[in-house]
Order: sequence, then structure tokens, then C-alpha cells
Amino acid sequence: MPAARIPNPDLLPPRIREKLCVLTGNCWLWKPQHSGSGNGYGKISVNGKMQMAHRVVYEHFRGPVPEGKVLDHLCRNRACCNPDHLEPVTIQENTLRGGARLFAPSSPCPTASAPC
Ligand SMILES: [Zn+2]
Repeated sequence: MPAARIPNPDLLPPRIREKLCVLTGNCWLWKPQHSGSGNGYGKISVNGKMQMAHRVVYEHFRGPVPEGKVLDHLCRNRACCNPDHLEPVTIQENTLRGGARLFAPSSPCPTASAPC
């Protein structure tokens, strides 16, 4: 496996980049006004299909998520799209982890009211 490089959000297509609030060295938060769902996950239309924003961003940098795996948010922030904060795990593993951290608060975008 090649050494991980720090992903650069500015390499994303502009229509994706403009919806992210990038906190330096931290989470890349999908701006709440673009989430389109009440569950905290960002959504974006790709080739006419609605996709999870964090998955689209992850695959842009890291390639396809292995079949049967889902992306676990290591930072526990569902709006986060930083590939460094996402790990492909089985659904069972994700459920186990999610249950263990059920009470971890998800932090809102601190600059939601200002341009990022
Ligand atoms: Zn994060």
C-alpha cells in the first residue's frame, strides 16, 4: 500500500468543493444546507443518482469502496467527508462501532453562518 498523502480538497470538482467547509487539518464538513436529508449525511447527485457525499469524496481520492463495505466515520461526524477520517468496514463492524459511540456528539459546522 502506498504511503498515504494528505488529501487536498481543492482537487475535488468545484461543485463538490464548494459544498464543503474544510477545517484545517480536521473535518471536511458538508454544509448543512446541501445535506438534503435529516440524518446528517451529505448527499450529492452523480450521473443522475443521489449518492452519499462522503463516499463520493472518498472514492475521488482513494478509489472504490470494497464491495460489501461501508465507510465508517472515525471522527463520528456524519457530515464529514475527509477521506482520512473514513475507513471501509463491514456493516457489522460499523454497527458495533456506532453502538459503542452512540452518545458521541456530532459537531455542527462552526462557520455555517460564514463562508468557509
Ligand atoms: Zn472528520
